[in-house]
Amino acid sequence: MTTLSKPFLEIPRRNAEERPVEERIRDYNKTAKEMTQEQVVEQAKRCMNCGVPFCHNYGCPLLNVIPEINHAVSRGQWHKALDLLLDTSPFPEFTGIVCPALCEGSCVNGKDGDSVTNREIEHRVIETGYENGWVRPNLPLVRTNKRVAVIGSGPSGLSCAEYLNRAGINVTVYEVAEHVGGFMRYGIPDFRLPKTVVERRVELMKAAGVRFEMNVRIGKDISPEYLLRGNDAIVLCCGSRAPRDLKVPGRELSGIHFAVDYLTQQNRINGGEIFEFDETKCAKDKHVVVIGGGDTGANCIGTAIRQGAADVMQIEIMPNAPMKRAADNPWPEWPRIFKESASHKEGCSRKWNINTLEAIGENGKVKALRCSEIEWLRGEDGRMYNVPKKDGEFILQADLVLLAMGFVGHAIPEIVSAFNLRTDERGCIFRDSTGMTSAKGVYIAGDCATGQSLVVRAITDGKHVANGIIRTLLN
Ligand SMILES: Cc1cc2nc3c(=O)[nH]c(=O)nc-3n(C[C@H](O)[C@H](O)[C@H](O)COP(=O)(O)OP(=O)(O)OC[C@H]3O[C@@H](n4cnc5c(N)ncnc54)[C@H](O)[C@@H]3O)c2cc1C
Ligand code: SF4
Repeated sequence: MTTLSKPFLEIPRRNAEERPVEERIRDYNKTAKEMTQEQVVEQAKRCMNCGVPFCHNYGCPLLNVIPEINHAVSRGQWHKALDLLLDTSPFPEFTGIVCPALCEGSCVNGKDGDSVTNREIEHRVIETGYENGWVRPNLPLVRTNKRVAVIGSGPSGLSCAEYLNRAGINVTVYEVAEHVGGFMRYGIPDFRLPKTVVERRVELMKAAGVRFEMNVRIGKDISPEYLLRGNDAIVLCCGSRAPRDLKVPGRELSGIHFAVDYLTQQNRINGGEIFEFDETKCAKDKHVVVIGGGDTGANCIGTAIRQGAADVMQIEIMPNAPMKRAADNPWPEWPRIFKESASHKEGCSRKWNINTLEAIGENGKVKALRCSEIEWLRGEDGRMYNVPKKDGEFILQADLVLLAMGFVGHAIPEIVSAFNLRTDERGCIFRDSTGMTSAKGVYIAGDCATGQSLVVRAITDGKHVANGIIRTLLN
């Protein structure tokens, strides 16, 4: 074997391949194929082991030691790579699939070329760990008599519970849903994140001593007072769950749904849950319009295509992102550039600079959307505003409209009032540097503290707050 002197110049970046479109749209199995260990070793060699690794200290919220992990992988030292990865990341099996790879946005290789495929490497490292039985329950060295209740089993709740339990604190996770995972379970579709990946980790956590109480709504089935009496601390990891609405005439028509409600129904079907199926949330033979050009919208497209939609259109009010970084978006910032997801390649149309003016119905059901092309202009105050284009109005046939326009606010009102929490003028729940709210012993982590974000950030926040609680309870 020849030794390459500058592998980052000689080995091209290689991404995981995708299953053929005609095959994958017939099922909900993972779209991405697995890369082989040999392919991943080759990719790890592209890492330049930079003196200042921006991927590690700027890109990755968990501060994963990416150059060291890549170096170990490039030498085939899988166990060492796993140890390095698990040192900072509790659940690389989640981020190795769904993280947008913030680290790759700040990779020095990506400045003038293609970044190192860190997420794929992370994915292969943790899967190699599972395949070899190296990933074990993290049992505490000593069990204390402290008790903490974690409310919500999304990535922030799981991360918080994992670290508290490792420190010997007795943890119970309370979850209103039937299954663990939060949006990883009910938002992200199976063709992106198979739910077995979440379940496998939950089994390890149970084996390490974490208790899970499902189908329990805190604030309704169990009172805050009861929880406070029985625990040394409570952590609210309830997510941010108020989707942005479409305020146009006709919004009340049947067939217009929030993206999350739509995705949840399909995830529940795939998970074998028994519930009353809502036909208005199924795309079969329908003209589907997804409003919102982000990742949640892309998840709706892939789901609608698998359900047998007649056609799918995605519209976005903002302009299309540029193909390359704009001058005001320099490296190592996250690149705000054009993205095409696997779902987009499965057969949908996309339009940008489109405003929705009205939903048009027939017999109470949505049939079309009246839309307008718009232009974005900068006002004298420096802010952008949009104006309709002359003769830019048009009608889009639509018997299923999915609203994927992001989320508003941070806090869940019922939780704020149940625990009597202080919020600021924007509705954010106040918390100190340990994560404690204005209510003594009540902490908050994840999207309900930060607003809708990412799995990796929720995991990081859960870890941070767990450390704050450990410092308070065990010192
Ligand atoms: C459709 C969709 C796709 C996404 N795709 C990605 C992606 O590809 N990559 C990525 O990084 N991020 C993605 N995200 C964002 C990511 O999923 C979230 O940022 C992350 O899940 C937030 O974690 P969390 O633990 O704070 O909250 P959540 O995951 O929202 O979990 C909160 C949990 O609390 C429970 N809960 C709420 N109230 C109560 C109560 N009163 N009692 C008991 N339980 C309660 C909820 O049922 C839920 O299980 C996506 C989000 C959505 C909606
Ligand atoms: S968690 Fe995300 S940002 Fe961190 S190393 Fe993994 S892919 Fe990169």
